[in-house]
Amino acid sequence: MKLKNYINGKLMEPSSQRYFDNFQPSTGKVYSQIPDSDEADVDLAYQAAKNAFKSWSILPKELRSNYLLKIAHLIESKLDQLAMAESIDNGKPLKLAKTVDIPRAAANFHFYATGILHYASHAHSMEDTAINYTLRQPVGVAGCISPWNLPLYLFSWKIAPALAAGCTVVAKPSEITPMTAYLLSEICIEAGLPDGVLNIVNGYGSKVGNAIVSHPDIPLISFTGGTVTGKHIASVAAPMFKKLSLELGGKNPNLIFADCDYDKMLHTTMLSSFANQGQICLCGSRIFVERKLYERFKNDFVEKTKALLVGDPLDDKTKVGAIVSKQHQEKIMSYIELAKQEGGKILCGGNVLKLVGNLSEGYYIEPTVIEGLPHNCRTNQEEIFGPVVTITPFDSEAEALSMANSTIYGLASIVWTENLTRAHRLANQLHAGIVWVNCWLLRDLRTPFGGVKASGVGREGGFEALDFFTEPKNVCIKLT
Ligand code: NAD
Repeated sequence: MKLKNYINGKLMEPSSQRYFDNFQPSTGKVYSQIPDSDEADVDLAYQAAKNAFKSWSILPKELRSNYLLKIAHLIESKLDQLAMAESIDNGKPLKLAKTVDIPRAAANFHFYATGILHYASHAHSMEDTAINYTLRQPVGVAGCISPWNLPLYLFSWKIAPALAAGCTVVAKPSEITPMTAYLLSEICIEAGLPDGVLNIVNGYGSKVGNAIVSHPDIPLISFTGGTVTGKHIASVAAPMFKKLSLELGGKNPNLIFADCDYDKMLHTTMLSSFANQGQICLCGSRIFVERKLYERFKNDFVEKTKALLVGDPLDDKTKVGAIVSKQHQEKIMSYIELAKQEGGKILCGGNVLKLVGNLSEGYYIEPTVIEGLPHNCRTNQEEIFGPVVTITPFDSEAEALSMANSTIYGLASIVWTENLTRAHRLANQLHAGIVWVNCWLLRDLRTPFGGVKASGVGREGGFEALDFFTEPKNVCIKLT
């Protein structure tokens, strides 16, 4: 099967006519072809988006909202097809795609379809001298670039607010998981979205992504992906004075105090460690446990981890699916080797897992728990982004906090305690964009989403995203 670009309302071949292989992670086999697009395709997409902007940006928001609602409903009606496509493309358990990824993609469109109807700007009165009001105008053609771990979920998290705000879009899904973005283009055609409003160009980051970021007439870039890529994008876009939103990597701490609700903590910590094979930017990969609870936690956690069923993503019983690519599998394994060299003890897992039959060439790794590493070693400082966690005891709240804040990252953090004062104190002191207390991945789409330090710049979510995709203009009118 050959995927196509979606440009000016049509499904198109790349101008190079070249394609590259798309692998199914669970089998390691090639199952589709991805357009190897380049600057020429990005420029075509830009021209289409620029033309469409003239009418889309002034279309009454109620009508823009209707299009987005149609897209949301179509995603919902194709839940099974989209979830299956996501699972095959990414290696994630089908059940997860069905209950999290695809419903959330529909929710993103719903949320911004209705959110835009409630989005208002400010007026500043200077008594009877003058009145200022703020116009919020769509910025123009937005460049949206997304990663492979939550493909349609994160792709739509950018596109929906951009379109709701009145921007038109040139978007690029990850070349590792482009399938549901392709299906979204079919959905947009079915929804009757006007030509050129959304354009999806497939291909490599170094070609398509770079062409979007360096395009002189794309004034805004919304990027989610790795910190190294984000740094490069910032270096290209900043001298061009582009508006930038960067959602980058994480190395999130999970702080477990002895006074926590133990069963709830244990259940959720399994998820925050291994959901989506640990390939969620919000996973808590560094687990710090108060020493008096440490042995009990370690024994229970390791026992539960050993019991996790790694297998065919399409099987409902599977808890941990395939790693997204061979290259990523190798990267994760190199970190497990590093952990050993750094003196870490592998409590469970630590190996590539060979399954049988048509899964024998798939990319699987046993969920891995490591102890005995100092908090400042590379294993505990660098993002691994796989089913690998470290556990470390602590003796005081101050020590836990200082280890938690010791990385270059600051995306999310998790705190388990029944002590209300401590929870608030830590929430105040953790250097992160998100603090979950006694929960994980509980999301209200109105809340600001993003990280500090090397985890990113700017916030998505709620009206923050609509602020990003619009430019505020102050109009001052003298009254006398
Ligand atoms: P990546 O940075 O390799 O790629 C992300 C996207 O950027 C892809 O579409 C890729 O093709 C594109 N890209 C690559 N080079 C580019 C360039 N030079 N110019 C423009 N675009 C380019 O990241 P990934 O491996 O796909 O995703 C994993 C990373 O994403 C992890 O670090 C993870 O923490 C992070 N992530 C962050 C969030 C968040 O919300 N903060 C969410 C999900 C994933």
